[in-house]
Amino acid sequence: MENFDEQYDFVIVGSGAGSMVAALYMRSQGKRVAILEKSELVGGTTARSGGVLWIPNNPFMARDGVQDSYEAARTYLDTLTGDQPDAPSATPERRHAFLTQGPKMIEFLVAQGIALDRAKYWPDYNDDLPGGSAPGRTVVAKPFNRKQLGRWADRLRPSFMALPGNLPAALEEMKLLPLMRRSWKARFLLLRLAGRGALARLTGRDYVVGGAALQGRMLKACLDAGVEIFTQTAVSGVLQENGRVVGVEARRKDGPLRVRAELGVLMNSGGFARNPQMRERYQPLASVDWSNAPETDTGEMIEEMLRLGAAPAQLEEFVGYQATLPPGVTRDKLIPGVQGMTASPHAILVDRTGVRYMNEGGSYMAYCQGMQARHAQVPAIPSWAIFDAQYMAKYMLAGTMPGSDKPQSWYDEGYLKKADTIEELAALIGVEPATLRATVERFNGFVAANKDEDFGRGDRAYDNWLGDPLHAPSNTLGTIDQAPYYAIEVVPGDVGTFGGVLTDEHARVVREDGTVIEGLYATGVATGSVMGRFYPGAGCSIGPGYTFGYIAAQHAAANA
Ligand SMILES: Cc1cc2nc3c(=O)[nH]c(=O)nc-3n(C[C@H](O)[C@H](O)[C@H](O)COP(=O)(O)OP(=O)(O)OC[C@H]3O[C@@H](n4cnc5c(N)ncnc54)[C@H](O)[C@@H]3O)c2cc1C
Repeated sequence: MENFDEQYDFVIVGSGAGSMVAALYMRSQGKRVAILEKSELVGGTTARSGGVLWIPNNPFMARDGVQDSYEAARTYLDTLTGDQPDAPSATPERRHAFLTQGPKMIEFLVAQGIALDRAKYWPDYNDDLPGGSAPGRTVVAKPFNRKQLGRWADRLRPSFMALPGNLPAALEEMKLLPLMRRSWKARFLLLRLAGRGALARLTGRDYVVGGAALQGRMLKACLDAGVEIFTQTAVSGVLQENGRVVGVEARRKDGPLRVRAELGVLMNSGGFARNPQMRERYQPLASVDWSNAPETDTGEMIEEMLRLGAAPAQLEEFVGYQATLPPGVTRDKLIPGVQGMTASPHAILVDRTGVRYMNEGGSYMAYCQGMQARHAQVPAIPSWAIFDAQYMAKYMLAGTMPGSDKPQSWYDEGYLKKADTIEELAALIGVEPATLRATVERFNGFVAANKDEDFGRGDRAYDNWLGDPLHAPSNTLGTIDQAPYYAIEVVPGDVGTFGGVLTDEHARVVREDGTVIEGLYATGVATGSVMGRFYPGAGCSIGPGYTFGYIAAQHAAANA
């Protein structure tokens, strides 16, 4: 204890995905554990997020009679993510660890009283591959009354998904709401939600959903279990004795702090989406200004682990999320995503020469990788979303409701381009009119045949899920042929970075020569993903983040 201010069995840096499951596991083994969080808010990007976890073969699937197995999930991951020589963290051993421990981790959390469930229908992003699941493998937290946190309630980072009046809605309900103008089901749902909201207010509850519900429930369980959580405590370095990590040093308002960790340190410190230098170095086509990760996502612990000799893993990857930048959106506000937009009927994405170049229905990460790959050949960052009056009447645009009047500043400042003909629209966006006309006519031909011959949009359950459930015969293919015509720019935004240091199947940090840094574990986007450069389904950041946090704690406790 010499030279240390505090001593714990296990010390966790950051309060994101994985931190609190690791802490709960340690407490279940009777160990003393501390979480050091630099922000005044708990929960990380994970709390800000949708809070969904991709956990194949999870117990809720078996409960509901939805088919899955280790073998099916393994086939899916091996097919999609199996052959990646340039992704050192996507090893078969780590895939095996993720697939075997993920369901156990969920069972452990349920036993700790965390109210989870499965998303009822959220297809894998490549559900057409062998082993892919159309119902999906995604786990969510039930809405959470944050008042249960007492004096910690205001220290829980809010989710981007908060509904007006904090209505407690499930994910599938939120997806239905924008259909209100056209669906009685959606209108009745709004009434039911309003009722739930009124009841919540009467009974003094304050519901949060998405990532805040997930992390709020975890925070409550951790506080009840005696996990010690220190906010505004920024870890500045890792301490070693004879090559083994034995603690950390941190800065607090009242001065420096040295904390000893007998069983090890778990880095759950997030990525570097908000670090301009690191993004410039590793991801020159991305931008801190297009990210929805919070300001705290600055990567200093990745740099610290690299300094200790950790091997890098896929530092060039980020979880792209196609975004648009209407006037007034700055990096401290939510950047509107347009994931569903160009997968909806009556809309396509084209490069800056007016040519369509991808299946707009793919995963957000694949979509943004597609933009980057295209940009290497033809200018495509930003690209243009092209859509028509039918789209405007039926679907959301940059956070505004279907059919609503758009802010005048959108037209005045040239963000939303509008024209009576495709040729005039082409002239407005600097594209050869004949090219854009040919692109749109070709797409309309695919709509008539109900088959996208170029990119197969609509061939997967996922593409259709992204589109409009009320549009027939295809949920995703619809003509662009009713004036006026519109265009907005689309950029490869992101929800965070997806590469960091290399870890093994026990979540231990690994050096370039394959040896491990004893006592140092890492999980979440501070590490290279077990998925490598792919995003197989909804929750592939948080699902593995939680699972490898659980694995790290088990390993450290077992080696006590
Ligand atoms: C709007 C949005 C929606 C998303 N939805 C989903 C989703 O539904 N499912 C999914 O899988 N992914 C989703 N993502 C991505 C996902 O949220 C992140 O990739 C993931 O939460 C990262 O988790 P993490 O545990 O690695 O880091 P974080 O959750 O960011 O936690 C890291 C924590 O470490 C702290 N920290 C950093 N450095 C230090 C330091 N030096 N000392 C002390 N503390 C430190 C940070 O302040 C932070 O609180 C979404 C992201 C966004 C922005």
